[in-house]
Amino acid sequence: MIAAMDISIRKAERSKLQDLSLENIPFGKYFSDHMLEADYENGEWKNIEIKPYQPLLLSPSLAALHYGQAIFEGIKAYKDKEGHASIFRPQDNYHRFNISAERMQMPAVPEELFMEGMRLLVELDKNWIPEKEDHSLYIRPFMFSADEMIGVRPSETYKFMIILSPTGPYYSAPMRIYVEEKYVRAVPGGVGYAKAAGNYGAAMFATAEAKKKGYDQVLWMDAFEHKYVQECGTMNVFFIIGNTAITPNLDQGTILGGVTRQSTITLLKEMGLTVEERPLSIQDIMVAYKAGLLHEVFGTGTAATISPIKELRYKDFEMKFDVDTWKTAPTIKKWLTDIREGVREDKYQWMQKV
Ligand SMILES: *Cc1c(COP(=O)(O)O)cnc(C)c1O
Repeated sequence: MIAAMDISIRKAERSKLQDLSLENIPFGKYFSDHMLEADYENGEWKNIEIKPYQPLLLSPSLAALHYGQAIFEGIKAYKDKEGHASIFRPQDNYHRFNISAERMQMPAVPEELFMEGMRLLVELDKNWIPEKEDHSLYIRPFMFSADEMIGVRPSETYKFMIILSPTGPYYSAPMRIYVEEKYVRAVPGGVGYAKAAGNYGAAMFATAEAKKKGYDQVLWMDAFEHKYVQECGTMNVFFIIGNTAITPNLDQGTILGGVTRQSTITLLKEMGLTVEERPLSIQDIMVAYKAGLLHEVFGTGTAATISPIKELRYKDFEMKFDVDTWKTAPTIKKWLTDIREGVREDKYQWMQKV
């Protein structure tokens, strides 16, 4: 157990908020006054400190830079109309963080360090949670190997940190999506289910190629047959066919189990839709489209919540959607926003008070 008193707090002398307005700020560009930092050495977590946000001094031989033992999370904090701060489903992210840690042969982060450290940090920087509608404070916990030694082996030391970034409405224009048949994101037995840093670097080339062709993102397909849909960029993906919502199942370990995905499944059921988590082939999607049964396609993730897909390109076949007529995706987005901002009853107890 780490008692709250084991987390030392050193406050910034001056808040950067004096020079910054929190309206319509771009995603991930500004960081709050403080950060949390902790070191793993000799099998235990120590030097747990919340201190002014500042650069790190790192050795060029830092193991993480060479072999990529690095994982992260993405969580959001909101303020309700009365100004009370709460965090959306942080326990789920905590759980997933340690699943990622295990897969990358990294130590587990104790619950008290992750959860109480995050709570204390957000409480200290709660003025950084924008109060405007659709604005939030993005919380980025991360861990990386810290040995100063270029031998290929798991590091013996690690650093765990949390930083906070205020963010404006992450408006995602309806996306044009390229169904990717050459490059893959994840394979069974691989690390697709982990929020491991390398997964994102590995996806950038394919995404850039799709952009050159005029698309916003790729729809990843399964690695063996390029037949079953997986994820859309760094989001989980949903297809509404008739009165059924279908999203790929997680069993093969190739898909990141999103907290927004899980929340969306719950709310879709509340709306009265049937939800199926199962393999879905691009052929079946085309058949449904041609039959006029494919009503909505959208991605889900913490950053944008719900991102509608207006066009899906598979080989020479184009599927186009009239996003403005949709009912389901906008309802889910509104419900999630309302729960987060304290406007809709939080009946699943997703919001954790700071
Ligand atoms: C983070 C992430 C998601 C979405 O997860 P959320 O918990 O909903 O933010 C989906 N796919 C990938 C690859 C991700 O990294």
